[in-house]
Amino acid sequence: MTRVLVVDDSDTTRALLVRTLERAGFEVSSARDGVEGAAAALREPPDVVVTDLDMPVMDGHQLLRLLKSEPVTAAVPVVVLTSHGEAPARFWGLRGGADAYLTKDSDAGELVATVRRLAASVAAGPRPEPTAPLGSLDVLTRVVTRLDASLLRATLLNGLLERGLSTTDLHTASRAILEVVGSVADAHLLAVGVTEQEAATLDVLVNRPVSLRATDRFVAAMTQEMAMPVGVAPDVVVAGGGEGDGDADPANLVSYPLPMRGARGLLALLPSEPQQFALASGALVADLAPHAGLVLDNARLGQRLQELSTHDGLTRTLNHRAVLERVSQEIERAGRYNHTVTVVIGDLDNFKRVNDTHGHLAGDAVLRTVAAAMVRALRTSDVLGRYGGEEFLAVLPETNLEAGRRAAERLRRAVAEHAAPLASGESVGVTASFGVASQAEFGSGATADALVALADSRLYQAKAAGRNCVRP
Ligand code: GH3
Ligand code: MG
Ligand code: MG
Repeated sequence: MTRVLVVDDSDTTRALLVRTLERAGFEVSSARDGVEGAAAALREPPDVVVTDLDMPVMDGHQLLRLLKSEPVTAAVPVVVLTSHGEAPARFWGLRGGADAYLTKDSDAGELVATVRRLAASVAAGPRPEPTAPLGSLDVLTRVVTRLDASLLRATLLNGLLERGLSTTDLHTASRAILEVVGSVADAHLLAVGVTEQEAATLDVLVNRPVSLRATDRFVAAMTQEMAMPVGVAPDVVVAGGGEGDGDADPANLVSYPLPMRGARGLLALLPSEPQQFALASGALVADLAPHAGLVLDNARLGQRLQELSTHDGLTRTLNHRAVLERVSQEIERAGRYNHTVTVVIGDLDNFKRVNDTHGHLAGDAVLRTVAAAMVRALRTSDVLGRYGGEEFLAVLPETNLEAGRRAAERLRRAVAEHAAPLASGESVGVTASFGVASQAEFGSGATADALVALADSRLYQAKAAGRNCVRP
């Protein structure tokens, strides 16, 4: 026979509910408030609980949460019954795990049907072991303990989202995750890794001083777990801690996948006391993982968006607007620090012919190869942008005209030396012509437009002189 526990503080309502349910053929017991109800349900779990919300001492919301978090009663369906029709009470009841929500003015038939449906929905399995009899204080202590645990979880989650969602930099987002997790996990080393199709980042937090060798081994173990595509090396950032003689055995590595869209995220840590970690922090960290994945997704998308607005999709160098902006910034900086900035414009020679002979796709492949060769030929402080179709603009901070000419000559050679491999197996080589101009040639009146125009006029001189050369 289906056993129903009714919990309601009003004698009249309780008697009415008991009678209705008994008439429908259920075996009914009752309790006068949440504490009594919880003690009864834990001692002898019923098939269905029907509870009021407004009750003294311990209300229906607290009863619901307690029953849903105690293993013996977690699967028992709960019908929340109240005179409130208010949306917040209903929302909170359903969030707390209520299986059905009825207002007290619903008719007896609806209550009976709901109880019958819920009783049938629970798979008939072995009944869980009942809990030893509990006093009121025990019940209230359990409620407070649960409440505190969920407050801890919510506080952590809030901290993670608040810090993690405020950045669009993948390293900063990873670092936020590491610090939040590090605050609730006693670990020597923690890491967040993100593997994308053509790139990977790995952020390591040294939470307690360990030897450099231990850190290296941890990074190696993590890199292996990240399973990166061949040819991709992670961009590694190590923070925190400091060196010590502490050791950490990579065999104790605990890892959690961080669910992401279009990338693979991984959180790993080396607990100081693996067994203690599993007990105290394991579940908490596992709970944070999906949210950490969200934080990484957000940063990655933000970073992408930023990149799309400043970079050229084909060559991944700065786009026209961004590179011109950079020229302006460098002119301003040069004025302030009494430096010289020089720009170089390069234009591929007879590029139309490449397209005409090999097709537009081959032309694109050549542009990518040329851009990569030019980036490699520049210093890291220089920037390269795609100024137009087959024109590139290099910005060289702290460089005078003569040094700029030498850089342009390096670029000219790099282009001429790197043929682009085509899908057909052939390869196509091109040359380029270059014009160089320095901000120092203008005195204090240099503007980005004037500087680039001067370089452009020299580029035309180079074309006129027979191409594949640098002017002046
Ligand atoms: P010159 O030596 O005088 O510069 O000759 P050129 O053929 O390079 O110059 P022109 O300006 O006549 O032609 C530039 C060509 O670059 C034409 C255009 O189809 C090609 N081009 C521009 N952008 C792209 C692109 O994104 N992909 C490909 N495949 N070709 C492009
Ligand atoms: Mg050209
Ligand atoms: Mg051109």
